[in-house]
Amino acid sequence: MMEELSRLPGLGPARVRALEKAGVRTLRDLVSRLPAAYRDLTAPTPLCEAHPGLECAVAARVVGEPTEQFAPRLRITRARIADESGDAVAIWYNQPWLKKQLYPGRELLLYGRFALRRGELQLQSPTIEQERAIVPVYRAIAGVPPRAMREAVRAALEMGRGQWPDELPEGLRRRYGLCERNFALYNAHFPLNRESLAAARRRIAFEELLLYQVALSLLRSDARAGVKLSFADEDVEDFWELLPFPPTNAQKRALYEMARDLRMDAPMARLLQGDVGSGKTAVAFGAMYLAWKSGFQAALMAPTEVLAQQHFEDAQALFAPLGARVGLLTGSLTKKQHAQAHEALSSGEWDMVVGTHALITEGVAYHDLGLVITDEQHRFGVRQRTQLGKKGESPNVLVMSATPIPRTLSLIVYGDLDLSILDELPPGRTPVKTRVVPEAKRAAMYGFVMEKVREGRQAYVICPLVDKSEAVEARDAQELYGELCKLLPEARVSLVHGRMKAVEKDARLEAFRKGETDILVSTTVVEVGVNVPNASVMAIENAERFGLAQLHQLRGRVGRGQYESWCFLVAEPSERLRLLTQTTDGFKIAEKDMELRGPGEMFGERQSGMLSTGLSMLAGDTQLLKLTHDEARALMKRPDDEETKQVVALARRAFRERLDEVALN
Ligand code: ADP
Ligand code: MG
Repeated sequence: MMEELSRLPGLGPARVRALEKAGVRTLRDLVSRLPAAYRDLTAPTPLCEAHPGLECAVAARVVGEPTEQFAPRLRITRARIADESGDAVAIWYNQPWLKKQLYPGRELLLYGRFALRRGELQLQSPTIEQERAIVPVYRAIAGVPPRAMREAVRAALEMGRGQWPDELPEGLRRRYGLCERNFALYNAHFPLNRESLAAARRRIAFEELLLYQVALSLLRSDARAGVKLSFADEDVEDFWELLPFPPTNAQKRALYEMARDLRMDAPMARLLQGDVGSGKTAVAFGAMYLAWKSGFQAALMAPTEVLAQQHFEDAQALFAPLGARVGLLTGSLTKKQHAQAHEALSSGEWDMVVGTHALITEGVAYHDLGLVITDEQHRFGVRQRTQLGKKGESPNVLVMSATPIPRTLSLIVYGDLDLSILDELPPGRTPVKTRVVPEAKRAAMYGFVMEKVREGRQAYVICPLVDKSEAVEARDAQELYGELCKLLPEARVSLVHGRMKAVEKDARLEAFRKGETDILVSTTVVEVGVNVPNASVMAIENAERFGLAQLHQLRGRVGRGQYESWCFLVAEPSERLRLLTQTTDGFKIAEKDMELRGPGEMFGERQSGMLSTGLSMLAGDTQLLKLTHDEARALMKRPDDEETKQVVALARRAFRERLDEVALN
């Protein structure tokens, strides 16, 4: 297959290897990797309209001889450029060969960003472009320069012309006005114009989303008849009696929904979503109780050993007194313990098991598995959750997640699951009061913080990750820390950031937890799982730089105790931030976040492999999502239709491997 790529112009062995390392092995891989962005060179900006910060195309000619300046390890080439409307200076760093090319009078098509330096408007390190077109910008691959990438894709499209026939049924294409596949591919890379780009992207996104949703429903219908549980109505009530606290209404509702599923012929496939602390574990235990009462085994899978251990101890404490036998199976067991655990599971000696991945490794057999629960589901892939499912006769499956994701998005990620939501926190938690604090009120805010410190409370001050570099972030945090020490001499201020040694960081976090320090200045890299009920105030610097969902997660660190809690968003007031002052509903916030930033952003880096095109292209197009969702449903309702068969075959092929990767992070 590698030969395919090496036949492309401009790709020597080293570049082919670089591509392969990035997972690009075939022509098809190459053209499937759609541009991350585009540069519109069709309508250059007149120089008189240029201003600092503007990124644009410019068509101008070189005026006079270019000059060179030297600084340590820096060689700067400067050329004065002009068009009919005005002039500017273009500069390049360490590209000495340009000097010869920039002869006076040469017409240039440039693309870059303007900046104001020492009173001079400069176009900085612009690329020299060839044609007035909309050109693709690809996510960088180390070892393959952008221009080589572009030309390789262009050549691959030419070579592949006609090789990739349109496989979407014609009727479907007509119904939704989707353009032909080759046209779509070509125009997604090298659009003729904006209209053809939009049509191309719509076509590709539609196909991807549709196939994905069909693949998800296949997963579900592939499941054999489920394990039907039978328990008494009182069992549900009895379970709540076992707990030391009355359930919230949301918890009751969720367990009721599960009880209904569990009694049906089809296996349960349900997602339980709820903010951190909403009490998902109790609901999970409820379902395990019902499985046990029905005479079936139940398994609970956690993403980490620590969490598994904790769940195991809790389950043991709750169920052992009733006579249920609870086991633990994690990767850290000795070989002998492993063998014993396997034996206990396959013989049915254990009624319940809590564990990690070890629960789904080869060789684990269950006696009669009736229920499978995965905690913090977003860390597991779809394939993994079905894998565990396959251990028995299609047991009932419950997955739990604390990451609030918008309903529209959960249709994609968890399209095969029914949804229960814990939208209510157990009583006794104080909702966090949130306020936007403009610069002018900063002093007053510090006054408030000091007041709380004097009352014995503690506070967090959070610095944002500004330019994705920990070094810069650490410096900013350091500065703020210094400032606060000066400003608030009475308070014991401490600092943690991602550049610190882990032991140092842990020691300072521990000191804060113990109340030995009052104010903790922290960067977001420190994703502390700290639980400090005495901390009742949080100030978030440059709050405008964060996503709403992230701000919501951050403020969850306060309001954990009995004290009235506050979160200050230091930023100029905006509609966006105001939402946080109005609601603590994680779902509403996630929904808004997606609307504003597009769903692509909602997925972590690791996510980019899946739904690469569809999702990132979607950019807030919930319309298209709904359309494909409904179409997928309609298709699956007519399983004998020729159209459905075609789409199903496509979906199986397209997602055979990628279903593994479907995991929110
Ligand atoms: P999460 O949803 O984050 O997994 P947990 O299940 O860990 O939340 O519950 C968080 C805490 O709340 C636990 O200490 C649990 O015992 C407690 N809790 C759960 N439900 C209730 C309730 N109905 N009333 C009071 N406390 C509860
Ligand atoms: Mg939990």
